[in-house]
Amino acid sequence: MTTTHNLGFPRIGSKRELKFAQEAYWKGQSSREELASVGAELRRKNWASQCELDWLPVGDFSFYDQVLDMSMALGNLPGRVADLSGHELDQYFRVARGRSEHQADETSGCPCGVAAGEMTKWFDTNYHYIVPEFDAETNFVLQAGSLIDQIRESRQHNVNAKAVIVGPLTYLAIGKSKDGTDKLSLLKRLLPVYRQLIEAIHAEGIEWVQVDEPILVTELEGDWQQAFVDAYQALAGLGAKLLLATYFGRLGENLDLVTSLPVAGIHLDAINALEEVDTLIAKTPPDHVLSLGVINGRNIWKTDLVRTLEWLEPIAQRLLDRLWIAPSCSLLHVPVDLSNETKIDTELKSWLAFAVQKVDELRILKTALDDGRTAVRTELDTNQVAIESRRCSMNVNDVAVQQAVANIDDELGCRASCYSERSVLQRRALNLPLFPTTTIGSFPQTAGIRRIRRQFKSGDMDDSTYRSRIKIEIKECIRLQEELGLDVLVHGEAERNDMVEYFGELLRGFAFSENGWVQSYGSRCVKPPILFGDVSRPEPMTVGWIRYAQSLTDKPMKGMLTGPVTILNWSFVRDDQPRGQTCKQIALAIREETLDLERAGIQIIQIDEAALREGLPLRRTEWDRYLEWAIESFRIAANGVCDATQIHTHMCYSEFNDIFESISRLDADVITIETSRSDMELLDVFDQFRYPNEIGPGVYDIHSPNIPRQDQIVDLMNKAAAQIPIGRLWVNPDCGLKTRQWDEVLPSLTNLVAAAKQLRKEHSLQPLPSD
Ligand code: GLN
Ligand code: ZN
Repeated sequence: MTTTHNLGFPRIGSKRELKFAQEAYWKGQSSREELASVGAELRRKNWASQCELDWLPVGDFSFYDQVLDMSMALGNLPGRVADLSGHELDQYFRVARGRSEHQADETSGCPCGVAAGEMTKWFDTNYHYIVPEFDAETNFVLQAGSLIDQIRESRQHNVNAKAVIVGPLTYLAIGKSKDGTDKLSLLKRLLPVYRQLIEAIHAEGIEWVQVDEPILVTELEGDWQQAFVDAYQALAGLGAKLLLATYFGRLGENLDLVTSLPVAGIHLDAINALEEVDTLIAKTPPDHVLSLGVINGRNIWKTDLVRTLEWLEPIAQRLLDRLWIAPSCSLLHVPVDLSNETKIDTELKSWLAFAVQKVDELRILKTALDDGRTAVRTELDTNQVAIESRRCSMNVNDVAVQQAVANIDDELGCRASCYSERSVLQRRALNLPLFPTTTIGSFPQTAGIRRIRRQFKSGDMDDSTYRSRIKIEIKECIRLQEELGLDVLVHGEAERNDMVEYFGELLRGFAFSENGWVQSYGSRCVKPPILFGDVSRPEPMTVGWIRYAQSLTDKPMKGMLTGPVTILNWSFVRDDQPRGQTCKQIALAIREETLDLERAGIQIIQIDEAALREGLPLRRTEWDRYLEWAIESFRIAANGVCDATQIHTHMCYSEFNDIFESISRLDADVITIETSRSDMELLDVFDQFRYPNEIGPGVYDIHSPNIPRQDQIVDLMNKAAAQIPIGRLWVNPDCGLKTRQWDEVLPSLTNLVAAAKQLRKEHSLQPLPSD
């Protein structure tokens, strides 16, 4: 008999019920009891959706984040909230977001909030967790009430519960030492509390505890490997059976370590580590359960069930009762239920599976393994029809696009001349002052702008009214930029809801769901485009707007595009060809747009690659392979222009050092990057490398309502000027201004322009260094 289980289910609800309940509570519009009852109802529904499985996860639900829940259960909340009184749920939200419900904050002496916990991405997903904080004083105390309550609740619903917790080494590894304390030195304080936790879970009658250790798919130093041995030795023999869950990648050199640990079972992500299945079977002790993640928990495609059975059936015959099957990872990363989609094209819909459908795929696989394929003949036939239709669909396959990718050669991504030659031509054409000023693209997305787009989308506004209304916004945006005295203008992006969705809607090969929400952090959910087919550009996407904007001013207008890597990384991507190939298709489509902008007389084109960095593989040894196609894709998109056309790119992060060489290989003429929060720390890298082209380090932190002063901007730029020849420096904000208000943006940019003028004056006294 094969056992089925799930590692975690999306907690947001199929209609984002959790989001609305959280936000109502924070606004003081609902009580703690009301929020708690929404949580209980979501858990009940989630368990009901998984009732066909043998083991259901308990502890995967969270009111904000499962890592913060773990910090809570281990009694490890930052000192700054520890002294505040009030209900533990309010403490929890203060760590999560700096504040809880207004009234609760007021009465506990925290009316102005506290510093929220740092948030960062969970491995290579777009889910953000609250980073655990450690220092020399960190002590752990078991506070597992919430998990124990959920276990009891699951019993009331007759759920066959498997408890889910974050493992001790992953918990330490993904946290941050605030004072330089070695995180591993805390393990001996941490393990006794993990022992108590597992005992407490077992005392509730729970047989299996899933211990998530995804850190095992990354490269581990020797002391961390040893720590695994020590930790799992300490957690053995407590009654509960431990299922060590690894996911998101291969075990690689950690495979022997994993199979040597005294646990009762191991979960492997058989989607990302299929090639390790045989070795793992061979090396796993014969009394261990082996759980294979055979359904992709990271995308929205139906599993090819017959192809999966082909390789799984012989394994089931070998392993018998020892075989468990599951999704590759928690289903947290996929939307809840496809049956809520009424507008997706029916052919495309037949290819998709969200969380509810993926759970059903597990049931079908189990029946086929245990009772033979004939027992699920109809389901398998329907599945094969869908798989076949996807493989052959005219909507997926476009021979011309495939041919164009096959024809890509080294030349395609190369500019005609090198930067030093191009820059002479560009200076002549653009005639910009020293320290030229510009912005990153978007200007405030006012309620008025959002209303125009909403009315157009719902059909309440016709095309020509829509166009003229957006043009009014563009005109006003240009007028303000001229008044401010900026040197390189932008059209303001009023027509764009989102920098990826906008292009996805205009490119062939993308589709959009109505309710395909996935939790990004807390109450924030995103609805990634579905990239299902060969990508092409039926017609220009931005040229009309940018040409109109340029017609209103004599200053150079910067045409604004989203880069291929960012479009790829922020979508659900097809799994039937390598990502690099899909990326090159997008690159060719963006290239056409770049060239059309150039033909329309636009002299500066910015191609944003906000998400280039987050596509990096978890293992460093695989970085080069990713970077190779990612960089090539950008180059294809950008570098077909003439020497005199200036290419800009933009990136929203400052961890730059480790991919610096690759970024310089983009060969963009100008790069604008986020730096202002890190006080130009980023520029330290210039001690070792010379960035060969021009650079605009952000000097206005757009994530804050604060208005940067002229002297602060001058100081930051002078720091930059100490490392970069001033003839190559630009003055600009960190990122787009769409989330800000005009009354913040106007004074900030006024100061930015004034700072640039002051810098010109100060530096014009010195001769331009020749570089
Ligand atoms: N051009 C985009 C904007 O200004 C860039 C956004 C981003 O980098 N995230 O909004
Ligand atoms: Zn940005």
